[in-house]
Amino acid sequence: MEIILNIIYLIASIFFIFGIKKLSSPKTARKGNLYASIGMLLAIVATLVDKQVLTYEYIIIGFVIGSAIGALMAIKVPMTGMPQMVGLLNGFGGGASALVATSEFYKVLNNPALTFELSTIISVILSILIGGVTFTGSLIAFGKLQGLVSGKVIKYPGQNAINVILFLLIIAGGTMVVLDNSQETVLLIVLLISLVLGVLLVLPIGGADMPVAISLLNSYSGLAASMTGFVLKNNMLIIAGALVGASGIILTLIMCRGMNRSLMNVLLGGWESAGSGGAAPAAGGEIKGDVKSVDAEEAAMIFDAAQNVIIVPGYGMAVAQAQHAVRDLMNILESKGINVRFAIHPVAGRMPGHMNVLLAEAQVPYDKLFALEDINDDFSNTDVVFVVGANDVVNPAARNDPNSPIYGMPILNVDYAKTVIVNKRSLNVGYAGISNELFFYPNTLMYFGDAKEAINKLVNEIKEL
Ligand code: NDP
Repeated sequence: MEIILNIIYLIASIFFIFGIKKLSSPKTARKGNLYASIGMLLAIVATLVDKQVLTYEYIIIGFVIGSAIGALMAIKVPMTGMPQMVGLLNGFGGGASALVATSEFYKVLNNPALTFELSTIISVILSILIGGVTFTGSLIAFGKLQGLVSGKVIKYPGQNAINVILFLLIIAGGTMVVLDNSQETVLLIVLLISLVLGVLLVLPIGGADMPVAISLLNSYSGLAASMTGFVLKNNMLIIAGALVGASGIILTLIMCRGMNRSLMNVLLGGWESAGSGGAAPAAGGEIKGDVKSVDAEEAAMIFDAAQNVIIVPGYGMAVAQAQHAVRDLMNILESKGINVRFAIHPVAGRMPGHMNVLLAEAQVPYDKLFALEDINDDFSNTDVVFVVGANDVVNPAARNDPNSPIYGMPILNVDYAKTVIVNKRSLNVGYAGISNELFFYPNTLMYFGDAKEAINKLVNEIKEL
């Protein structure tokens, strides 16, 4: 039986690995989800028929209640609420790991016939530590994104020192429990401090930086599950947890690189939010020069004369929910024989894949979406680049100004195109809180207005030409 169970777990793991592989491209992502779901189904069924399951009542009750809540959330939550939903789910994963590890501790404590192996009790402590931090950290992340907790950067004196002391206390308490497995009170203190540490690590982080924190907490929840796998001696949980842990940390690294930040800066928690996340003060900053603007009619004529157009979506497109208007623009331009493509910056918007998801929702074909490295050389051969609510990801200061906070961040080289039309409501700064010299370039034309309204107007003008 044991061998059959492990073979099924192995097959489920292979499904998980292929699932993750397929998730790396929007084209194959649906299939990836299906593969991962099949893997999860296999793992659950195999675990349920395992002889260790003594009674099914609680499992069925949990399954029914959990599925109902999960289904309701999935239906109700809007696309823009996805980051906090993911945050919440990470938290529950971490909390579950900490609870399972704690209950295993009590199982052994209350049964004199049982003892812990050294590796198992160490895994119990690690599971409680990582799971506890993930649980409360994720709840705070959820609260910040949902507006229940202040999204501001919260700093207080001795912040890092307090975190280090709490961490050392956990290590000391954990060591005591490892040396003497009957230290029930110490174990509960370790759990409590871990919960407090989760709050303190995430509380200082600005609301706009939450997506990076959530990606990191996602990785933590995987590590916690993996530790719990060692506690329960369940190979499936070890593998699945390790996959989540590793993919979460890779995603975090990609986000950090896209924002030109170090991982250490993120790992320490409490890094300053660079900017205002959109609610910035008035604009233009220190950059002086002429800004040329166009109205819908003039912009329509420029598009009409183009052969190649690249559209660059950014956070503003998401705010305005302008993805359907952008799709209409693509359709009308294509109906005139104009080649239209989309350039997607890895950190455009406020969460990984933000633009891909919105454009997919608007039925923009995947093969029109190009990643930075695949399209950056093409801007110089492009007639018109249309920047829709993007700012930092097209700011040439990242290339030109060593004093800029975003210097070194890879950007889309839109300024190399013949004409750049930028749609946003004003000259205001974006997330990084810095002015954008692109708006003052001779080949740039500003098309001011809310993205949805402005693009709908533009489409109507193009129709009338
Ligand atoms: P930015 O935040 O740089 O700029 C967005 C612009 O959208 C603003 O300048 C704003 O200008 C404009 N805007 C806002 N509302 C509207 C509207 N209704 N219609 C039209 N325009 C609007 O966005 P980018 O996508 O260029 O860059 C993303 C930034 O977020 C980067 O700095 C990145 O590092 C950061 N980030 C990304 C994460 C990710 O995972 N993707 C995670 C965390 C941070 P105005 O007010 O003038 O309209």
